Amino acid sequence: MRCTVNFKTYTNSIWDKKQRKTPESDQTVFYNTQPAIITEEVFEKVQQIRQQRHRQTKTGKSSIFSGLVFCADCGAKMYYCTSIKFEKRQDFFTCSTHRHNKDQCSGHYIRAVVLEDMVLRHMQMVISYVANHEAHFRAVMGDKLKLASDEAIRVSKKKLAKAEKRLGELDRIFMRLYEDRVNGTISDERFASMSKSYEDEQTQLKKEIETLTKEIDQQTQKADDVERFIAQAHRYVGLEELTPYALHELVKAIYIEAPDESSGKRRQNIHISYDFVGFIPIHELMQEEMA
Ligand SMILES: [Zn+2]
Repeated sequence: MRCTVNFKTYTNSIWDKKQRKTPESDQTVFYNTQPAIITEEVFEKVQQIRQQRHRQTKTGKSSIFSGLVFCADCGAKMYYCTSIKFEKRQDFFTCSTHRHNKDQCSGHYIRAVVLEDMVLRHMQMVISYVANHEAHFRAVMGDKLKLASDEAIRVSKKKLAKAEKRLGELDRIFMRLYEDRVNGTISDERFASMSKSYEDEQTQLKKEIETLTKEIDQQTQKADDVERFIAQAHRYVGLEELTPYALHELVKAIYIEAPDESSGKRRQNIHISYDFVGFIPIHELMQEEMA
């Protein structure tokens, strides 16, 4: 089977909204089998992958991509499929929705070795770009993240104002309700049921306000995310082989499109969401350099 692959990057994608939270800890751990010092965050990720591995495969085989690969169409996890009889080149990923119900999503089949090759090449381009054009990378990605976070902040602030307004209204409603009760204009049962429903709403609103306030704070701190990514990328300059550590430290998620076979050749796009910065328009960046 001939396989032509290419990457597409999005600057404005719904997937960008899945930005992971900024890690608060710079703690380091020493990992038995690896001389490298890895961040606590990567350590946790690796542990998660291991747990998934135990749940998922009966063959004892595992993929470094398990847990990182998603279907670009339905958003569901892609399952790692292997068999004791399989050689490494036969292992593949497929959309879990499709596995459960073939009508709901198409297969999105991709072989693990093909995926590995595509991801490694993309990472190499990104790392090399960061190493050679750090200032430009910082400017472009900084602007991109700022746009996204400004928009997120605007939306959150709007919701926050609405929630706070309603909370104020509830205070006034409560006061009137108490007055009505004191005056005897409403029965105790009615008072109890009404105040219960307002209290529930109040609790809900307070939770919402807390969440929104946190989100706004986090978005405001996003300016550091580009720097964090640049620092991580520098650690992998000269990467020649895809190790679980490099993968889990730099990549947050990989989305696999359905293959396009309309041209007679099999073409398949993947989208790599990097840690901290999301999707990197690497081909556009590289073209700018050539222009
Ligand atoms: Zn799917």
